[in-house]
Amino acid sequence: SEEKSLNFIEEIVENDLNSGKYKTLVTRFPPEPNGYLHIGHAKAICLNFGLTQKYGGYTNLRFDDTNPVTEKTEYVNSQQEDIKWLGFNWKNELYASDYFDELYSFAIKLIEKGLAYVDESSADEIAALKGTPTEPGQDSQYRNRSIEENLDIFTRMKNGEFSDGAYILRAKIDMASPNMLMRDPIIYRIKHAEHHRTGNKWCIYPMYDFAHGQSDSIENITHSICTLEYVSHRELYDWFIKKLEIFPSKQYEFARLNLTSTVMSKRKLLQLVNDNLVNGWDDPRMPTISGLRRRGFTPKSVREFCERIGIAKRENLIELSLLEFCIREDLNKSANRVMAVLDPIKLVITNYEKGTEDLIGENNPEAEGGTRVIPFSNELWIEREDFMEVPAKKWFRLAPGAMVRLKFAYIVKCEDFVKDENGNVTEIHCTYIPESKSGNDTSGINVKGTIHWVSVQHAKTAEIRLYDRLFTSETPDAEEGDFKDYLNPESLTVLPNAFIEPALADADLDSRYQFIRKGYFCLDKDSTAEKLVFNRTVTLKDTFKK
Ligand code: ATP
Ligand code: MG
Ligand code: MG
Repeated sequence: SEEKSLNFIEEIVENDLNSGKYKTLVTRFPPEPNGYLHIGHAKAICLNFGLTQKYGGYTNLRFDDTNPVTEKTEYVNSQQEDIKWLGFNWKNELYASDYFDELYSFAIKLIEKGLAYVDESSADEIAALKGTPTEPGQDSQYRNRSIEENLDIFTRMKNGEFSDGAYILRAKIDMASPNMLMRDPIIYRIKHAEHHRTGNKWCIYPMYDFAHGQSDSIENITHSICTLEYVSHRELYDWFIKKLEIFPSKQYEFARLNLTSTVMSKRKLLQLVNDNLVNGWDDPRMPTISGLRRRGFTPKSVREFCERIGIAKRENLIELSLLEFCIREDLNKSANRVMAVLDPIKLVITNYEKGTEDLIGENNPEAEGGTRVIPFSNELWIEREDFMEVPAKKWFRLAPGAMVRLKFAYIVKCEDFVKDENGNVTEIHCTYIPESKSGNDTSGINVKGTIHWVSVQHAKTAEIRLYDRLFTSETPDAEEGDFKDYLNPESLTVLPNAFIEPALADADLDSRYQFIRKGYFCLDKDSTAEKLVFNRTVTLKDTFKK
């Protein structure tokens, strides 16, 4: 809505553009290709791309690939697919690894200015001299090496003369700074590892803090937006830019998205995948963008969710039910209403002698969705739960002697039922009221309950997968012990023998349906011509507390 007030980053951007500080807005989305993107990334994507959609300029996609061990081309590809699916286009596809030469020359420049030195202290020694937040650190014995010696050793580090960990390059800033990150941070380390793009060209790699801001600067990023964990890094970000005398990108921090009953770090999601606790990155229970897509979420619903949660300066926790609310709203408008019986029991209409009959069903009362043919006959599947042998109070569905309307069809009256030797009801026998046809009902009979059904001889079988929260704890990250101890053992229910309307045989991966009374569903990629598989995206009932 146009009346909406600006978020604090939009305010900064508007001021900077109005004051002429920058002519063109340039933002970037900088994922590390070490896993699939999740709903938290969607928030950052919507923010960065949303700003340049609104204010002009452009957004780069920059893979932050400075850590050779965890990064893979598979992840680069999936991340691109997910951004496009969300509906955004980047201006340039860039890789921090493309800047390795330039970053290396920045390091040389710092050494030449006397602002960086090679240190061969052990990790323990470095930690011991680092000090504490309340006490200053102490200088390393290598801090005052000559520029010539630093240049010599750093060049030999690059040339592969040393093993991992033998030397590091540190910025020479201030061991007494109240900001621990300013106490001579490590900027390069030796790592003999193959990189997904540069192969074996490099055996030294820049640290995040030495790569990120400089990459922003190389790309003339005006507003470098990141999450609150980086507030303390900002001083270092500015220091490098100032000392290197390069384009002054500015960093701004916002509160990351935290969602109930979810973990949201790629590292943790990777554990779920590797330990086979879910079926891959795109398992419909995963908070990944690919998982949401497979579950049946639309790009619009995810963007709407990101819009509603807004941009805050303080950490918060968002209810998963808000995400469900957003997809329910979207699908309520767009999904066709169809009938599927998830837990079937047979209903026989003993006085129906027409054989079969084509009924007309409205596809979507919320839209001009047209109609479709629904075949009817004397044998139907209905939900087991829609019959009660001994009806409860206020039971308006089937029970001995009770009447109910079959959706799009007739009123039926339960006359009898059949049980097997174990006492389970196997068949319900009804008579129908010929004058009660939907749209043309002259019977004068009023019934309170309407149930869905599928004609036995016309039905297609399908497997239906129902999902629940992946975790039993609202905050699995904050619990004692391992977050994996809080997985919900009932997060997936498979119903192998459901029956669906024949019209659903045409479903494709983009189709979205409301299975009347059962929720919103989409076809799963596991479907074959012989066996259709549907995922429940979300139930019909709204549990979100507004
Ligand atoms: P993860 O721990 O999940 O891997 P990350 O921050 O290390 O997260 P990156 O690939 O570096 O992942 O993230 C790319 C961008 O997405 C960063 O700018 C980061 O700030 C943003 N981002 C990551 N997680 C969230 C989140 N939960 N909410 C909002 N933005 C996020
Ligand atoms: Mg990161
Ligand atoms: Mg990470």
